[in-house]
Amino acid sequence: MNTCRPINLSATAEDLLNRGLLLPVMEMFYSVQGEGFNTGKPAAFVRIGGCDVGCHWCDVKEAWDASLHSLTKTKEIIDYLSGFPAKSVVITGGEPLNYNLGPLCNGLKNRGVKIFIETCGAYPLSGSFDWICLSPKRNMRPRADMLQMADELKVIIHKTSDLEWAAQNADLIKESCLLYLQPEWSKYNEMLPQIVEYVQQHPRWMISLQAHKFMNIP
Ligand code: SF4
Repeated sequence: MNTCRPINLSATAEDLLNRGLLLPVMEMFYSVQGEGFNTGKPAAFVRIGGCDVGCHWCDVKEAWDASLHSLTKTKEIIDYLSGFPAKSVVITGGEPLNYNLGPLCNGLKNRGVKIFIETCGAYPLSGSFDWICLSPKRNMRPRADMLQMADELKVIIHKTSDLEWAAQNADLIKESCLLYLQPEWSKYNEMLPQIVEYVQQHPRWMISLQAHKFMNIP
């Protein structure tokens, strides 16, 4: 079992978790995607608890401990997420690929919902997605197969050397993958000029801002 999964589960709950029929849900909400290629598009979001990557600048540290988040029946998650006007769902975390996402994706697909995932790429893929946004983290490097499957590489820039980290990852993705640099929120003013300069000099890259934070929406 993964170290960031809920602990002290009954055998039944663990079995259901492993089969993807229960998931530790931190929150679900309807909003507008604020990052990357799908910025500006309305979508329902599910944030799945549990992450062992440990980025020091993480803005959802409350997601790390999966045991703090309610184990929720996947059927209930599907019912909630598919009940909004926009038939698009963003699965985020934490690191959602700590879990078996197959039943969640199958259920959403059966309701005609498009599925987007935000992942660090360090764990194997489960489920099927219309869009994979991979945001690589130095603490736990992405898998080679995940980099090849990414539709979008979104690198968070907290310090100047992260630009080199971005370039290293960009050498490992498929040709059609879109490339985004996103200033880490607390370093926005410091890093943005460097990012603008970098994108101007390396035009394969684009800039992603956390538009939802400017709009003051979740
Ligand atoms: S991978 Fe994401 S959720 Fe996990 S620590 Fe890093 S920023 Fe936070």
